[in-house]
Amino acid sequence: MKPATVTFSKLVDSLQQHYGSSAPLPSTDPLELVIWENIAYLASDRRRTEAFAMLKQTIGTSPEQILAAKQSALAAISKAGILPDVSAEKLLSIAKIAYEEFDSDLRPVLKKPLPQAKKALRRFPSIGDPGAEKILLFTRSHPVMALDSNGLRVLCRVGFAEEQKNYSATYRLVQDAIHGQLPRDYDSLIRAHQLLRQHGQELCKRSKPRCVECPVRDGGNFGRTL
Ligand code: SF4
Repeated sequence: MKPATVTFSKLVDSLQQHYGSSAPLPSTDPLELVIWENIAYLASDRRRTEAFAMLKQTIGTSPEQILAAKQSALAAISKAGILPDVSAEKLLSIAKIAYEEFDSDLRPVLKKPLPQAKKALRRFPSIGDPGAEKILLFTRSHPVMALDSNGLRVLCRVGFAEEQKNYSATYRLVQDAIHGQLPRDYDSLIRAHQLLRQHGQELCKRSKPRCVECPVRDGGNFGRTL
């Protein structure tokens, strides 16, 4: 594959010029971020935001409030995505783990060293290493360059690493490739996460990327994925 012909900072700057300011964060509370990831399976950001707002208004986001709710009420909220009953079970599981293992407060986890903090967050449904890193970044606890699947795909396509069959292997390869180019401050890291994600969702889609509209096509592997 062709090596990347754009630097990480130039890539992010180009995306900012194209998309404007990055999307606001759904929350800066660690437990709410875990809930956000699980509330509506495969829902768009807009539908997920609506479901999250409804949960806050009608039930609440504390473990005690979720555990006291009827599963049917949680499933009604999770209808924003597919498999609402599964999402409702996950919300109950999150509340149970937070209540029993973390005394209903995840904030002390954020103060742990990075490996221990990630391990604790991986106790929750749907939270692997990338999800844990995102929570640690958005809560400004550890300055890590968390990447979701969209951001990872973009970085592979512009040449930072070759996509592997194994997602974790791709994630590690990309992280190694960008490591020396990363900004150190939280604002820049969060901005990069959000813009890479948005680009992967809107133009650099998994199938049929819209390369002719892409603001980084000259630096990316234009045409390779068409
Ligand atoms: S040129 Fe196409 S493949 Fe490359 S980053 Fe842009 S949208 Fe993605």
